[in-house]
Amino acid sequence: MFTTFGQVKEYCNEKQIKMIDFKMIDLFGRWRHLTIPVDRFTEETLIMGIGFDGSNYGFAPVEKSDMVFIPDLSTGIMDPFAKIPTLSILGDVYVTGDTPKPFEQDPRAVANRAEEYMKSTGIADLMKTGPEFEFYVFDHISYETRPNSVGFRVDSQQAEWNSSNLDDNKGYKVPLKGGYHITPPMDILYDLRSEMCLLLEERGVEVKYHHPEVGGPGQMEIEVEPGAMREMADKTMLIKYVVKNAAFNAGKSATFMPKPLFGEAGNGLHVHMHLFKDGEPIFYDADGYSGLSQTALYFIGGLLKNAPALCGLTNPSTNSYKRLVPGYEAPVSICYATANRSAVIRIPDYAKTPDQKRFEIRNPDATCNPYYAFAAILMAGLDGIENKLDPVEHGYGPYDINLYNLPKEEQSKIKPLPKSLEEALDALEADHEFLLKGNVFSKRLIEIWIENKRKELKEFSKIPHPAEFGLYYDL
Ligand code: GLU
Ligand code: MG
Ligand code: MG
Repeated sequence: MFTTFGQVKEYCNEKQIKMIDFKMIDLFGRWRHLTIPVDRFTEETLIMGIGFDGSNYGFAPVEKSDMVFIPDLSTGIMDPFAKIPTLSILGDVYVTGDTPKPFEQDPRAVANRAEEYMKSTGIADLMKTGPEFEFYVFDHISYETRPNSVGFRVDSQQAEWNSSNLDDNKGYKVPLKGGYHITPPMDILYDLRSEMCLLLEERGVEVKYHHPEVGGPGQMEIEVEPGAMREMADKTMLIKYVVKNAAFNAGKSATFMPKPLFGEAGNGLHVHMHLFKDGEPIFYDADGYSGLSQTALYFIGGLLKNAPALCGLTNPSTNSYKRLVPGYEAPVSICYATANRSAVIRIPDYAKTPDQKRFEIRNPDATCNPYYAFAAILMAGLDGIENKLDPVEHGYGPYDINLYNLPKEEQSKIKPLPKSLEEALDALEADHEFLLKGNVFSKRLIEIWIENKRKELKEFSKIPHPAEFGLYYDL
């Protein structure tokens, strides 16, 4: 929004801004913030930055160096929720020294380097990136008491029957998996969703549409217009912030967690992508499979070949793998197809013009750090183009069939996605050369990421799970 310090000051005077709030992204993809009174914000802040303790952000310690963040004025927006007028600005993390340099693990720096790497290959100069946001809005009370919310039942059919028929309250309830595009009065959160979208539009996020999603009680989706990759990672952070805070202010609680409810649709963070060079789309060929160019198919080949390793970054939680199961429009098989929601790569059939021709990767979810995830997606696709990885030759399809119902012998021909975080981290450990090109990811970053995620796994394995009460309590 701003390019000069003078513009920021002018805006602050005009809007009576009292506080400047700096937001930084930690290793795991959460915003952290620090606030200064508007008069403390000087031109020096832009050069010297503001010091902080990076170890609390999950970053690997860098010996003998302090970390500072330097505000990126172009990201300045009015914070939509602060009662005291507050200008919110994203900060880039730097390591101080003779000359301050971007901290190699800083998520924004990683995404910037991936875009630079793409340009340096001469293949493309823009990856238009379109993430889709699925989330649940729960009522604090119903979240606690809703049947099956903690997964007591092992059989999802049983759960469905149980929920719709055994409840004492006979008032109409949206059935499980029955929420797609329902209208008011069942769509009770319509106004809240519209409010979220207006707040986003006012802050430069172009909303394509919003709607109730399949997950009966309270699942919804906001889709936005695509943009450059790093910029869309910034917007992803803003969208999650707006959704969670608007819900909170309405007395609700929003979550992007991949599988909050057993027996119900999960939350994906599908990512659409298409590459451009000098303003021209390079993914289109009227005669190619589903209107895709050979370059696009190689890109798909790269995504699919590196899919297990990618999962370590795009699906980095224990909960991620409770979503990637058959029957809920989430992908389970490493393959591509047109208009098929059970494949990792889906080519939407409705996007037919050269400028619109694209595909989506369906496995990612919002427990990822969007900067690392989008950067890794781009690097995996470029790896496919550089190594001419044809997806047909490598047996990735196309599979224009429902992959959930394949006979066993057919199913066994298609490689499955990792079934657990453990498998995904092992895959990332074994296959990450494609991420190191152009120093986009450092070896240290991959190590620290895997180390932290394995720590999560270890903790998780020690915690009694609510489902264990259903299975074992009365044995
Ligand atoms: N909720 C589904 C998922 O977990 C996706 C539904 C859709 O295709 O929009 O990926
Ligand atoms: Mg959806
Ligand atoms: Mg989608």
